[in-house]
Amino acid sequence: RIFRIFCCHDRPDSTSGEYPVSRWVELDVTPRRILLASTPVGPLGSGIGGGVELTLHNLVYGLGLQGHHVEVVAPAGSLHVGERVHQVKGALQVSSQTQARDAPIEMPSGSVLAAMWSTVSDIQDQFDAVINLAYDWLPLYLTPFMRVPVLHLVSMGSLNDVMDSALADVELELSGRLAAHSMAQANTFPDPAMFRIVGNGIVTERYDLQTRPDAEAALGFVGRISPEKGLEDVAELSARTGRVVRVWGMMQDEAYWHRVAIDHPDARLDYRGFLPTDELQAEIGRCAALVMTPKWVEAFGNVAIEAMATGVPVLTYDRGGPAEIVVDGVTGFVVPADDVDALADAVERIDQIDRAMCRQRVDAEYSSLAMADRVVTW
Ligand code: UDP
Repeated sequence: RIFRIFCCHDRPDSTSGEYPVSRWVELDVTPRRILLASTPVGPLGSGIGGGVELTLHNLVYGLGLQGHHVEVVAPAGSLHVGERVHQVKGALQVSSQTQARDAPIEMPSGSVLAAMWSTVSDIQDQFDAVINLAYDWLPLYLTPFMRVPVLHLVSMGSLNDVMDSALADVELELSGRLAAHSMAQANTFPDPAMFRIVGNGIVTERYDLQTRPDAEAALGFVGRISPEKGLEDVAELSARTGRVVRVWGMMQDEAYWHRVAIDHPDARLDYRGFLPTDELQAEIGRCAALVMTPKWVEAFGNVAIEAMATGVPVLTYDRGGPAEIVVDGVTGFVVPADDVDALADAVERIDQIDRAMCRQRVDAEYSSLAMADRVVTW
């Protein structure tokens, strides 16, 4: 299905009064068969894969709505999404954010990553393209050896030297195969220009706009309980402002959680566990604002658009993806990184933000269809 689109200038010619034709564009909307390769750190639905799990769901949905055929390869035990999930058994990979920059690449015996990519290789001819969502060396290395195009949607900033050079090698051999979620993420790599920026998206229909917070007007924090998320600053903010902070997320580092609590005895942190999306969105929507205090360059920060979709403004440090998502003074406030005073000041100004505007912004920029458009163009 090829559409020819007629493009003209947006203003009429001053003498003739006609709109001059600038060009014809061909838009190819042929349905594609797309195979998505998930992260090998955990099954879909476990939460171990963090934002990658949500990205994958969103892509399956958005690409499906556009008429593409989408299948998924993921570790055994994954939730069902798309037309088919190829469930692959094996030992899970350790998350890369816990590893040192000079760490060599490690794979456990009986690696699920290796098994997943054997599956991808076996079934590749049934697809037009493979989109890899895993931040791992093996799929990058295999890219030039595959018969179908493999594209990589990179989910993290630069963390490891071996990964940086594997990414650079793909770009060198097969330019255009790499995409990132934000400029800030791309800028952490030696050559940011090798990435196409595709942002991210969510299935907006699953999120309800809540026009006001509940009576407690608590702040919210959503993320894996892990040091790179900077929960200690949120605790500090709670102690200073006296506000309750409701916390949702996978308890990845329990010792860290206890340390934060001990170091901030006056903080009013209310841990509410890890919730499935439908319940999480209802809960976030009751908050006065979502707080993001990343200590690393957050590649995107799905939770920012999830909160905004429920009408909740986002207060974030000026670091990484969230600072690109939030329009300062319109959908939240962007404050200097690591400045808890500035955050406390932003808490005082939350009421200046129009919650309906937060939702509108997500509908316009971060819906599954908007994301699918960007990915299909890529
Ligand atoms: N999340 C969830 N339930 C929870 C807390 C978090 O499903 O109780 C999901 C959240 O929706 C988001 C992901 O966990 O999609 C975290 O992604 P993000 O991009 O914010 O950070 P990452 O974990 O990838 O660093």
